[in-house]
Amino acid sequence: MSKQTLAFELSKFKVFDDAKQNLEQYSTDSEIAASILWDAQMQGWIKDKSVIDLGAGTGILGIGCLLLGAKKVTFVEIDSDSINILKENLEELKEKFDITAEIVIENTDIKNIEDKTFEKADVVIQNPPFGTQEKNMDSLFLEKAMILADKVITMHKTVTKEFIDNFSAKHNFQVFRYYHYNYPLKMSLPQHKKTIEYIKVSCWLLVKD
Ligand code: SAH
Repeated sequence: MSKQTLAFELSKFKVFDDAKQNLEQYSTDSEIAASILWDAQMQGWIKDKSVIDLGAGTGILGIGCLLLGAKKVTFVEIDSDSINILKENLEELKEKFDITAEIVIENTDIKNIEDKTFEKADVVIQNPPFGTQEKNMDSLFLEKAMILADKVITMHKTVTKEFIDNFSAKHNFQVFRYYHYNYPLKMSLPQHKKTIEYIKVSCWLLVKD
């Protein structure tokens, strides 16, 4: 599968019906998701690996990993409405592609993730809440991601770069790749006035020392 095909396939899956503001629900743009996943797979991070999609929403990131040959994907999401859409997306995926990977769905708050109770993975991928509704959600997601895997693919607002870099160093993670994007935020939340608003979002590929 080419990067373009991946982006095209990802664009066809369902996104949030009625995005919930308090949970900062926004879907990762399919072109951006494909570009991040493609680079990660070039580094050997996806194929035959176990992946946790933290704050999975409707599943675009984990589904991308399944399309690129991950051996197991665990989708972790607090919101059962999103999980219903995720399940529809997974049905569609399995109808169209021969997916043999193990797929797990955990309907839970990431706050419940503790070191010993949750099976670790090779990689965590996440586009978490940016912490604009509930303060520090971005760092809480990052902290949990670092407990769950030694490789972390994580998206945050570009303005938080210094914080994310310092947080990573403090937790003994090195920045392996860093990109930034103009992230199209479709008008899915009531406070968004324009049809599409662009915000500066960066993606870090982090590796434990
Ligand atoms: N990964 C998806 C969704 C990103 S939006 C994508 O890239 O398109 C962030 C997601 O985190 C939402 O689905 C939201 O419901 C979920 N979320 C927010 N707080 C959470 C929490 N405490 N525990 C688990 N999931 C949470």
